[in-house]
Amino acid sequence: MAYKITSQCISCKLCLSVCPTGAIKVVDGNHWIDSELCTNCDGSIHTVPQCKAGCPTADGCVKQPSDYWEGWFANYNRVLAKLTNKQDYWENWRNTYSQKFSEKLQKHQGQVPA
Ligand code: SF4
Ligand code: SF4
Repeated sequence: MAYKITSQCISCKLCLSVCPTGAIKVVDGNHWIDSELCTNCDGSIHTVPQCKAGCPTADGCVKQPSDYWEGWFANYNRVLAKLTNKQDYWENWRNTYSQKFSEKLQKHQGQVPA
Protein backbone atom coordinates (compact mmCIF):
# COMPACT_ATOMS: atom_id res chain seq x y z
CA MET A 1 0.00 0.00 0.00
CA ALA A 2 1.69 3.17 -1.22
CA TYR A 3 0.95 6.79 -0.60
CA LYS A 4 -0.54 9.02 -3.25
CA ILE A 5 -0.71 12.74 -3.89
CA THR A 6 -4.18 14.18 -4.34
CA SER A 7 -5.73 17.23 -5.94
CA GLN A 8 -5.29 19.03 -2.60
CA CYS A 9 -1.54 19.27 -3.32
CA ILE A 10 -0.35 22.86 -3.61
CA SER A 11 2.96 21.88 -5.26
CA CYS A 12 5.09 23.24 -2.44
CA LYS A 13 7.78 20.62 -3.26
CA LEU A 14 8.48 19.88 0.43
CA CYS A 15 7.95 16.16 0.00
CA LEU A 16 10.41 15.87 -2.88
CA SER A 17 13.48 16.29 -0.74
CA VAL A 18 12.34 14.17 2.21
CA CYS A 19 11.35 10.97 0.43
CA PRO A 20 14.06 8.40 1.17
CA THR A 21 13.39 6.37 -1.98
CA GLY A 22 12.99 9.12 -4.58
CA ALA A 23 9.44 7.92 -5.22
CA ILE A 24 7.99 11.40 -5.63
CA LYS A 25 8.05 12.69 -9.19
CA VAL A 26 6.99 15.91 -10.86
CA VAL A 27 5.52 15.92 -14.34
CA ASP A 28 4.25 19.14 -15.87
CA GLY A 29 4.24 20.71 -12.41
CA ASN A 30 2.07 17.92 -10.96
CA HIS A 31 3.45 15.81 -8.11
CA TRP A 32 2.81 12.08 -8.00
CA ILE A 33 4.18 9.07 -6.20
CA ASP A 34 5.61 6.08 -8.03
CA SER A 35 4.00 3.15 -6.19
CA GLU A 36 6.82 0.87 -7.37
CA LEU A 37 9.33 2.97 -5.43
CA CYS A 38 7.24 3.98 -2.41
CA THR A 39 7.98 1.77 0.59
CA ASN A 40 5.76 3.72 3.03
CA CYS A 41 9.14 4.67 4.51
CA ASP A 42 9.37 1.16 6.00
CA GLY A 43 12.95 0.08 6.48
CA SER A 44 14.24 3.65 6.52
CA ILE A 45 15.38 5.70 9.49
CA HIS A 46 11.96 7.36 9.56
CA THR A 47 9.16 6.10 11.78
CA VAL A 48 6.39 7.85 9.84
CA PRO A 49 5.87 8.44 6.09
CA GLN A 50 7.83 11.59 5.39
CA CYS A 51 5.68 12.88 2.54
CA LYS A 52 2.56 12.80 4.72
CA ALA A 53 4.34 14.10 7.81
CA GLY A 54 5.75 17.18 6.09
CA CYS A 55 2.83 18.03 3.83
CA PRO A 56 1.33 21.41 4.76
CA THR A 57 -2.10 20.44 3.44
CA ALA A 58 -4.69 18.29 5.18
CA ASP A 59 -5.21 15.73 2.43
CA GLY A 60 -2.51 16.50 -0.15
CA CYS A 61 -0.76 13.24 0.55
CA VAL A 62 -2.81 10.22 1.64
CA LYS A 63 -2.39 6.49 2.00
CA GLN A 64 -3.44 4.66 -1.14
CA PRO A 65 -5.95 1.94 -0.24
CA SER A 66 -5.10 -1.54 -1.46
CA ASP A 67 -8.63 -2.59 -2.28
CA TYR A 68 -11.90 -1.05 -3.41
CA TRP A 69 -13.82 -1.15 -0.11
CA GLU A 70 -10.89 0.09 1.91
CA GLY A 71 -10.74 3.06 -0.46
CA TRP A 72 -14.48 3.55 -0.32
CA PHE A 73 -14.54 3.68 3.48
CA ALA A 74 -11.45 5.92 3.64
CA ASN A 75 -13.18 8.37 1.33
CA TYR A 76 -16.47 8.10 3.24
CA ASN A 77 -14.76 8.75 6.56
CA ARG A 78 -12.88 11.74 5.13
CA VAL A 79 -16.07 13.32 3.76
CA LEU A 80 -17.99 12.54 6.95
CA ALA A 81 -15.26 14.13 9.07
CA LYS A 82 -15.42 17.27 6.93
CA LEU A 83 -19.21 17.44 7.24
CA THR A 84 -19.38 16.83 10.96
CA ASN A 85 -16.61 19.36 11.53
CA LYS A 86 -18.91 21.99 10.12
CA GLN A 87 -20.96 22.44 13.24
CA ASP A 88 -23.67 24.50 11.59
CA TYR A 89 -23.99 22.21 8.56
CA TRP A 90 -27.15 20.35 9.70
CA GLU A 91 -28.71 23.49 11.13
CA ASN A 92 -28.28 25.27 7.80
CA TRP A 93 -29.53 22.22 5.96
CA ARG A 94 -32.66 22.05 8.15
CA ASN A 95 -33.35 25.80 7.79
CA THR A 96 -32.98 25.69 4.03
CA TYR A 97 -35.13 22.56 3.77
CA SER A 98 -37.85 24.05 6.01
CA GLN A 99 -37.89 27.28 4.03
CA LYS A 100 -38.17 25.49 0.68
CA PHE A 101 -40.84 23.17 2.05
CA SER A 102 -42.88 26.13 3.35
CA GLU A 103 -42.62 27.90 -0.01
CA LYS A 104 -43.78 24.79 -1.87
CA LEU A 105 -46.62 24.26 0.59
CA GLN A 106 -47.85 27.86 0.30
CA LYS A 107 -47.67 27.67 -3.48
CA HIS A 108 -49.56 24.39 -3.50
CA GLN A 109 -52.22 25.68 -1.08
CA GLY A 110 -52.69 28.71 -3.31
CA GLN A 111 -53.59 26.38 -6.20
CA VAL A 112 -56.25 24.44 -4.28
CA PRO A 113 -59.76 25.84 -4.95
CA ALA A 114 -61.47 27.07 -1.79
S1 SF4 B 1 5.70 7.15 2.10
FE1 SF4 B 1 7.93 7.46 2.25
S2 SF4 B 1 8.73 6.30 0.51
FE2 SF4 B 1 6.56 6.60 0.10
S3 SF4 B 1 6.47 8.47 -1.13
FE3 SF4 B 1 6.16 9.05 1.00
S4 SF4 B 1 8.20 9.64 1.72
FE4 SF4 B 1 8.50 8.43 -0.16
S1 SF4 C 1 4.33 18.31 0.51
FE1 SF4 C 1 2.13 18.06 0.08
S2 SF4 C 1 1.51 19.99 -0.92
FE2 SF4 C 1 3.77 19.91 -0.96
S3 SF4 C 1 4.23 19.03 -2.98
FE3 SF4 C 1 4.18 17.34 -1.50
S4 SF4 C 1 2.05 16.56 -1.59
FE4 SF4 C 1 2.08 18.57 -2.54
